[in-house]
Amino acid sequence: MDSAIVVGAGTFGASLAWLLAREGVAVTLIDQFEPGDARSTSGGETRLYRCAHGGDAEYTASARRGRELWRELEAETGERLLHERGVAWFAHLEDGWEAHSERALRELDIPVERLDPSEAARLYPSFVADDLRFVLLEPEAGAIRAAHAVRALTAAAQAQGARVKRARARPAGHAVELEGSGTKLEAGAVIWACGGWLRDLFPGLVDLRVTRQELYFLDGGDAWRDVPAWVDYDLAAYGTGDLDDLGVKIAPDVEGPPLGPDDPLPPASPEGEAGARAYAQRRFPALAEAPLRHSICCRYELSPDSNFIAAPHPVEPGVWIVGGGSGHGFKHGPAFAERIVAALRGTGELPDRFGLRERQPGRSFRTAGSSFEP
Ligand SMILES: Cc1cc2nc3c(=O)[nH]c(=O)nc-3n(C[C@H](O)[C@H](O)[C@H](O)COP(=O)(O)OP(=O)(O)OC[C@H]3O[C@@H](n4cnc5c(N)ncnc54)[C@H](O)[C@@H]3O)c2cc1C
Repeated sequence: MDSAIVVGAGTFGASLAWLLAREGVAVTLIDQFEPGDARSTSGGETRLYRCAHGGDAEYTASARRGRELWRELEAETGERLLHERGVAWFAHLEDGWEAHSERALRELDIPVERLDPSEAARLYPSFVADDLRFVLLEPEAGAIRAAHAVRALTAAAQAQGARVKRARARPAGHAVELEGSGTKLEAGAVIWACGGWLRDLFPGLVDLRVTRQELYFLDGGDAWRDVPAWVDYDLAAYGTGDLDDLGVKIAPDVEGPPLGPDDPLPPASPEGEAGARAYAQRRFPALAEAPLRHSICCRYELSPDSNFIAAPHPVEPGVWIVGGGSGHGFKHGPAFAERIVAALRGTGELPDRFGLRERQPGRSFRTAGSSFEP
């Protein structure tokens, strides 16, 4: 494979472009928007990066490898992308997602600490833990500056010789047709890494639900700057401390209503804000009445089982489909791309679960996605 076209400069496509260009492949990276645009799923300011994935050793190892590659990208570009203040998981059950995560993390020698709820109180300026069994802390996890990271991947790919093109594209057999000009581009490999747009580009092949999600940023003051990010898996909520003066992020993570990839992003809703504040009241009471700094609406593209997609097109030789981040893909970008590059070269295999087959609903790798009361 001497040449490749990657359509989509989100975390998956831009990572592919970076790694392929680093290996000397002549890469063209195409996106309809500027990298990091808020309309793509990789846009926006921050994403959690953490290794815990319940008992799933493969995603756990992938996230850890991702951290190494993000660090390489930082070194290559001089950008500060990772903000490592830890991620705390709030465990409602003795043997639930967090306990399974702990076992998988320890087996892979990834640092992790189990804290009593009373000990965990030291992590936050205000914290209620009377409904928790324990708190699992991943000290070497945190947040990644998402839009920055996508721009850094793209810049690093360019520095390694990749061509970056702004255009909307559509599949034309094994080629890529640019809308407007009708120009057709061909290459040894064509990878469509188009996030929520994949299901319309490849109808019948890609099964994704595109949903509306909301994020709220509350002004908690200086005390919330260096606190760990957190995930309340069973209550379907997560957030970060006040990173880069954005405010404390609270993300209600129940799956939202459908919102098409080309639909305008509406403003976040008052009901969503009320939900975020109700969560704060329960977990971080000092934030419940804190002023709202800002709020945004974005979208997930969810595969039925929340596994990623990375598979060759069933008919068109050299064409690949990559996506299905399912609300947890960002951190994996470069590590996932590394595995795809190996598969493209025939030196590595991808698991069946990334394939373009019919999928049954499965446990979410993000949060439970719907709230429960233990
Ligand atoms: C609110 C929110 C919170 C999240 N939190 C986390 C988190 O904490 N941790 C984590 O790891 N992940 C998280 N995720 C998930 C993660 O962000 C996504 O899984 C990941 O960004 C998906 O990347 P992608 O490259 O597949 O898609 P995208 O980022 O959407 O990239 C696809 C690109 O393809 C382009 N494109 C599409 N169609 C065309 C076309 N026809 N022609 C040209 N270009 C095209 C688009 O413009 C876009 O830039 C979150 C996502 C959201 C929305």
